[in-house]
Amino acid sequence: MSTKTIFEPFRIKSVEPIRWTTRGQREELLRAAYYNLFLLPAGDVLIDLLTDSGTGAMSTHQWAAMMEGDESYAGSPSFDHFKRSVQEIFGYRHVIPTHQGRAAERILFSVMCKKGDVVPNNTHFDTTRANVEAAGAEAVDLPLPEAREPGTRLPFKGNMDVTGLEELIERVGRERIPLVMLTVTNNSGGGQPVSMENARAVSAVCKKHRIPFYFDACRFAENAYFIKLREPGFAEKTPKQIAQEMFALGDGCTMSAKKDGMVNIGGFLCTNDDILARQEKDLLILTEGYPTYGGLAGRDLEAIAVGVQESLEEDYLRYRIASTAYLGDHIAEKGVPIVQPPGGHAIYLDAKAFLPHVPQEQFPGVALAAELYLEGGIRSVEIGSLMFAGAARMELVRLAIPRRVYTQSHIDYVVEIILKVWARRAEIKGMRLTYEAPFLRHFTAHLEPMG
Ligand SMILES: *Cc1c(COP(=O)(O)O)cnc(C)c1O
Repeated sequence: MSTKTIFEPFRIKSVEPIRWTTRGQREELLRAAYYNLFLLPAGDVLIDLLTDSGTGAMSTHQWAAMMEGDESYAGSPSFDHFKRSVQEIFGYRHVIPTHQGRAAERILFSVMCKKGDVVPNNTHFDTTRANVEAAGAEAVDLPLPEAREPGTRLPFKGNMDVTGLEELIERVGRERIPLVMLTVTNNSGGGQPVSMENARAVSAVCKKHRIPFYFDACRFAENAYFIKLREPGFAEKTPKQIAQEMFALGDGCTMSAKKDGMVNIGGFLCTNDDILARQEKDLLILTEGYPTYGGLAGRDLEAIAVGVQESLEEDYLRYRIASTAYLGDHIAEKGVPIVQPPGGHAIYLDAKAFLPHVPQEQFPGVALAAELYLEGGIRSVEIGSLMFAGAARMELVRLAIPRRVYTQSHIDYVVEIILKVWARRAEIKGMRLTYEAPFLRHFTAHLEPMG
């Protein structure tokens, strides 16, 4: 397919109406939500780009598979379908279902980590970091130095700093590192992919030091497609072959099926280690459920079994990566500063460069996100000083694209709204906090515009 139009490789069988609002109504709604988009009712949002997690549309094949769900407490055939499908791609001996990614993380780190341990990752996702820390260990991010520069374009900006990993092992000793994790794609690093070469290098370092190597696999299909497009030697391979090759480098993975599992809820934990698997299943029974359902319904397992396979279809991935890049490229060509190059699941606006007149303590990301809602009813999320307080490295606004939900017309609308806000950026004022919770304040904070 070499047309300019993005071809969505599906047609629509069931539609969800979007409620139109006027600017006056949005002003009112935003005030009532204290300028925090998390506090808006979703029904008052026109285009919801808050997250790509669990917000995707399922296919007819997934809905049909759900009807085949077997709800037996133990030994459900739906578990066999799920396990067979996951193993075909991931290749690990044990597959443990969980209700979402963070449950897999909690079980993995409670079993593998103890106080004083250190867990390296290219970049920990927020729940991953929190679960490492909850197990008493220290979460260390080892991104490439260039990953901190929004404008720098690299094909695999999500890679781990392998030299940094070797130095860390040297410094703290291998006994304190129970596992190394690699997040594909690197979500907190802008949805940037990791190359096969980098995964091989990390795997080699782990083997040399006999440290288990796990993937945070949430966006494995998008990562595989970026490798096909960008890494020499992979153009002729299918995304599935690439994913299989990558997972063969590791000892297991955690997965949120709400991302490239193409479902609204679900996740899993994989390992090749029989002893760990037994401990993990014991913990699973304690908090999630019996090992053949792990906190999910049989129908959810069926939907995941189909979804992980659909996420690797080339027509889908071509559309997915093209439509994200389409949004990024069309605003960047008019000068809008974004994290470059466009990632797989989201575009990140650089709010510091967008609103240079708004100082960091006045939350430029929150001010920009509020403006996108006012202008066109678009919901995004600030990833900056409100979310991370003093630890914020950048002031970003993330526009995450749900899977198979919006069409090119919707994305054209988003481009139009962003460019309108860009044109009047000089008028946009900063924000002040009027209420904050003692932790995870971004979810519930209240703000108001300055002056
Ligand atoms: C979403 C996500 C998780 C956590 O998964 P949940 O299903 O939200 O619990 C972990 N790691 C990464 C990279 C993610 O994107």
